[in-house]
Amino acid sequence: MIKVAVNGYGTIGKRVADAVAAQPDMEIIGVSKTKPGAEAFVAKQRGYPLYIADITKKENFEKAGIQVAGSVADMIQKADIIVDATPGGVGEGNRVLYEKYGKKAIWQGGEDHEVAGFSFNSSCNYTEAIGKQFARVVSCNTTGLCRIINLIDSAFGVKKVRATMVRRGGDPGDVKRGPIDAIVLNPVTIPSHHGPDVQSVLPNINIVTSAMIVPTTLMHMHFLNMELKNPATKEQVIELIKAHSRLGLIEKSTGITSTAELKEYACDLLRPRGDLWENGIFKESISVLEGTDLYLFQAIHQEADVVVETVDCIRAMAGRCQTASESIAITNKAVGLTA
Ligand code: NAD
Repeated sequence: MIKVAVNGYGTIGKRVADAVAAQPDMEIIGVSKTKPGAEAFVAKQRGYPLYIADITKKENFEKAGIQVAGSVADMIQKADIIVDATPGGVGEGNRVLYEKYGKKAIWQGGEDHEVAGFSFNSSCNYTEAIGKQFARVVSCNTTGLCRIINLIDSAFGVKKVRATMVRRGGDPGDVKRGPIDAIVLNPVTIPSHHGPDVQSVLPNINIVTSAMIVPTTLMHMHFLNMELKNPATKEQVIELIKAHSRLGLIEKSTGITSTAELKEYACDLLRPRGDLWENGIFKESISVLEGTDLYLFQAIHQEADVVVETVDCIRAMAGRCQTASESIAITNKAVGLTA
């Protein structure tokens, strides 16, 4: 069993912990928090040993009825690999600890590419991660972009991508984020950072991105245009998407035309936390104009898509599966990602 520690048991960390615990070849040896709170109680209920960043705060946890297994440094020493899901910018500072104990580590998209020197997406560069000490799983938006762009590029060649991201203001449980009543250009400049981030995984893709933030929490929505090198038909694109287990097609017959209805669908499917691990591609939006001009809308569940990628990244770095398809099949089955 691969011994995994999750440093930062928040929105992403708690999902990664549950996904790892569900895998047949991995186990959670600990998770970490900075303060006692609802998520710490959930960790206790799940049976995950809880470690804390600042051991002097041990009493605060114990007063709240939460047993502390030790410090983050103790946790790291027990793990084969650490998933760092601390808030963006915090994880970078933890690299010294992972180096000190000679451990493998995976950061999330809130950190820069340079923190690991390698950016990961299961469908695009799984084999490059095999045996690596450090990797970064790219952000939710970049993950969603990489999946579809790489698929279309492999089949028809992509000359240029133009993508606009309509981003959620904050996660549902995040009461401090916004906006409450505005459309915020974020960034106001074009291109946004998302294009270069895609290039950290797919360096040969020519891409220009723009982004805005809106008052919603459920998901992001992408509008994508791909100029193709070779002609394609709408039907060919649909068939390719159908064959990719992490790209979901939203059929017209469902009546779903919004993130709210899509999230409700994921909840009704009894997905844990209503998580949609796949890109939600609206089938009716797929259009190929003049043979080489592809358009589509896709919804991205920011809290979920990177979770399954992180599990594959663990497996690649541990050298357990030699192909992406092998790992993806194990990960999907274990979490319950079925058609
Ligand atoms: P979060 O704030 O929900 O959770 C972070 C957790 O880390 C919290 O539980 C906090 O207690 C803990 N923490 C803070 N400082 C710590 C420290 N020094 N040591 C140990 N634990 C510490 O954050 P999140 O949204 O889960 O984001 C984590 C990472 O995932 C970031 O890089 C973020 O950019 C990335 N990411 C987030 C989303 C999203 O939608 N939330 C999507 C994709 C990627």
